[in-house]
Amino acid sequence: MAIDAAARRGDFPILSRRVHDAPLVYLDSAASAQKPERVLAAVDAFYRGHYANVHRGAHTLSAEATAHYEAARVRVARFLNAPSERSVVFVRNATEGINLVAHAWGRQALHAGDEIVLTVAEHHANLVPWHLLAAERGAVIRGVPLGSDQRVDMEALAAAIGPRTKLVATFHLSNVLGVVNPVARIAELAHAVGALFLVDGAQAAPHLPIDVQALGADAYVFSGHKVGAPSGIGALWVREPLLRDWPPFLGGGEMIRTVEVDRSTYADIPMRFEAGTPAIAEAVGLHAALDYLDDLGLAAIWDHDRALARYAIGRLRALDGVTLYGPEGDDRGGIVPFNVADVHPHDVASALDARGVAVRAGHHCAQPLMRALGVRSTVRASFWLHTTRADIDLLVEAIEEVRDFFGAVA
Ligand code: PMP
Repeated sequence: MAIDAAARRGDFPILSRRVHDAPLVYLDSAASAQKPERVLAAVDAFYRGHYANVHRGAHTLSAEATAHYEAARVRVARFLNAPSERSVVFVRNATEGINLVAHAWGRQALHAGDEIVLTVAEHHANLVPWHLLAAERGAVIRGVPLGSDQRVDMEALAAAIGPRTKLVATFHLSNVLGVVNPVARIAELAHAVGALFLVDGAQAAPHLPIDVQALGADAYVFSGHKVGAPSGIGALWVREPLLRDWPPFLGGGEMIRTVEVDRSTYADIPMRFEAGTPAIAEAVGLHAALDYLDDLGLAAIWDHDRALARYAIGRLRALDGVTLYGPEGDDRGGIVPFNVADVHPHDVASALDARGVAVRAGHHCAQPLMRALGVRSTVRASFWLHTTRADIDLLVEAIEEVRDFFGAVA
């Protein structure tokens, strides 16, 4: 069933508010998604009726909370089409998931001269953890450029992968260019040399169906807050035989088997990677968010997203003074970066905000990509299942006003 975005607006209480005396047009879902009523209600009901710490108490509430928490893990496995929930680890966000892999896998697997292959289009969350690891282990990072079509240059990627490659880590959906990476093909290249293949699914998870087995991923991360769940929860899935061999990341309660004063042994997966009290109610919220998305259908959401992208690109391209970035085609989702002549992106975003339109401005945690595009920063409008054509029309109108106010024509 196609997405009825106008009807879906009603699922999000915050979308009925006004900003600067104008109706809110929320076009910043790529930074963080708003929360549907269903998620808010699930979290509220959990706190009111079942909340306690997990995996600890013998009492009823603790058992109920544990059952809710573990049900969320099963739900994440289903969302990713993972073979089992045993290798789904709850983390705070995609960033923590990637850092977990860098610490648990990287510190034992990587040696001086080993190579890590990354693209220039990665979010800083999929760059900086590898910089830290490479510095510690004496590893070398190979950066893959974009091709002339602003997609990852697959020939350059194939050439960068070699006998010393131990890791290939890349995005599934770009947070700036809005384009899907050919992940399954990259998996083949990585696996041909026995490298670990990590996929940063932070932007893909809210927008398109994910099947970690079909993608050939060894590890896949995403953040709850971008799929309509509360902030503070995310998930890392790792192929089970790999995760079983990895040492812990953080130490503390919950992740142990036995503890002496001078040594300890560690729990089996996934608990080995979940030290301390986790984000319990947030996991319940994540469960509800994934139910919501799957009920609507990720394939339908992706169709909606791509149709909006086509519409927005068409309308923005017709505006004098507006420069668009990112490829066009069937692999392009609803993340649209642009600049308005020589007006600073922050000025554009502030002027749009004054008209109730929320967009992001800056380098989008992608400085190498900004350099590759030859800009310091951009404005970015990003869409989700509640975004309508009318929202995009309001964006376009607001951009025209801003452009005319600043007297800017390219
Ligand atoms: N990767 C990509 C592609 C992202 O867009 C983001 C969030 N902007 C992240 C990683 C990091 O997500 P988080 O801040 O939730 O850890």
